[in-house]
Amino acid sequence: MQITEIPVDGYERVASCRDEASGLHALIAVHSTVLGPALGGMRMLPYASEEEALVDVRRLSKGMTYKSAVADTGLGGGKSVIIGDSKTMKCPELFQAMGDFIEAFEGKYITAEDMNIGIGDLEAVSSRTGWVTGLSRESGSSGNPSPYTAHGCVVGMRAAAEEAFGSQDLSGKHIVIQGVGAVGGQLAILLKERGAQVTISDINAERVEQLCSEHGFTAVDDEDHLEVECDIYAPCARGAGINLSTIPRLHCKVIAGCANNQLLEFEHAEILREKGILYAPDYVINAGGIINVSIELLDGGYDEVAAMAKIENIYINLKRVFEISREEGVPTNVAALRLAEQRLAQGRAD
Ligand code: NAD
Repeated sequence: MQITEIPVDGYERVASCRDEASGLHALIAVHSTVLGPALGGMRMLPYASEEEALVDVRRLSKGMTYKSAVADTGLGGGKSVIIGDSKTMKCPELFQAMGDFIEAFEGKYITAEDMNIGIGDLEAVSSRTGWVTGLSRESGSSGNPSPYTAHGCVVGMRAAAEEAFGSQDLSGKHIVIQGVGAVGGQLAILLKERGAQVTISDINAERVEQLCSEHGFTAVDDEDHLEVECDIYAPCARGAGINLSTIPRLHCKVIAGCANNQLLEFEHAEILREKGILYAPDYVINAGGIINVSIELLDGGYDEVAAMAKIENIYINLKRVFEISREEGVPTNVAALRLAEQRLAQGRAD
C-alpha cells in the first residue's frame, strides 16, 4: 500500500492511497480538527480522475467542518472517497485496505456511510480500524442516520415557518418535496403526521406510487414540481438544484430541505433573498444525521434519547442564522458561515 501526502492550503491533511493487491485508489481529506476529530462519510464513485476526486473530497470535508461547527457536535470536518465503480469493484479486501488507510490517520479521521457505501462495507473497514461510526444498532452503533436527518429537517422547518409565517405550526402548510428516498420519504411521512399538505416528486415513479398509495400524498411530475404553488419547498434529492434556471420558476416562500449543496453557487442565496424566499442553509437544517452519529462517540456510547434532544438544537441554530441575516442584512448562507466561523474561532482560542 502506498500513501502519498497531498499538500493543500487550508487543510490539515490530505492523502491518496493506492493498493495494488485490492485495487484500492482512495483519498482522505481532513479539513479541520479544531473542534474535534474529523468525521465525515465515505463515498464511492467512478471519478474520471484523481483530480476530480480531490475536488470533491476537499469540498465535502470543508462542508463537514461547517456542518459540525454549527451543530456543535464536538467534531471536525473530514471525508473520504474511493475512486471506482461500486457495482463491480466492491470486495472485502478493498474495504480492509481502506481500513488500513483510515488507521494511518491515527483517529484524526472517523468514517461513516455516504453515497454507495453501506453498513456491510463499513463492517469490512472496521475489521482493520476502530475509527468507524454508523454501524448497525445491534452492534451498539447509531445505525442508519436518515430518519434522524428527516426528523431534524422537521425541527428546522418549524424555525423557518416561524420566521416566514409567524408560527412554527406546520399544519395546513403546503410542502413540496423533491426526492423521496431514505430522507425525503421519511420527511413526507413526518410532515403528514403534523397535518401538512404534502406533494411529492421523484424520478423513481415506483417509489412515488408506493408512498402515495400508502400515505395519501399528492404526486407531481419531477419536471413540473417547481411550478407548484406552495409554502415550503424541500429539496431532498441531489445538490445544485437551486440555480439561475430554476430560481425564476420557484413558487414557494421558504426553501427548507435535506439535500447537500442545494445552491449551485453561493451567490444564489442573495437572489433568493431579493425574491423574498427564505432559504434555510442546507448544512444547518440537514445536521440531524451527523448529530445522531456524534452521540455514539460520547462516553457511555449511543443513546437515542440524547440524540433526539440534541437534534432539537437545529431549531435554535436556524433561529440564530435568521437573526444574523436580518440584523446584518446578509443572505442566510452568509449568516450560517458567520456562525460556523465564530464557533471555529472560539475553538481555536480555547
Ligand atoms: P436517497 O438516494 O435515498 O434518495 C434520493 C432520492 O432522490 C431517490 O429517491 C432518487 O430517485 C431521487 N432523485 C435523484 N435524482 C433526482 C432528480 N433529479 N429529481 C428528482 N428526484 C431525484 O438519498 P438520501 O439519503 O435520501 O439523501 C437525499 C439527499 O439528502 C442527498 O442530497 C444527501 O446528500 C442529503 N443528505 C442525506 C443525509 C442522510 O442522513 N441520508 C444526511 C444529510 C444530507
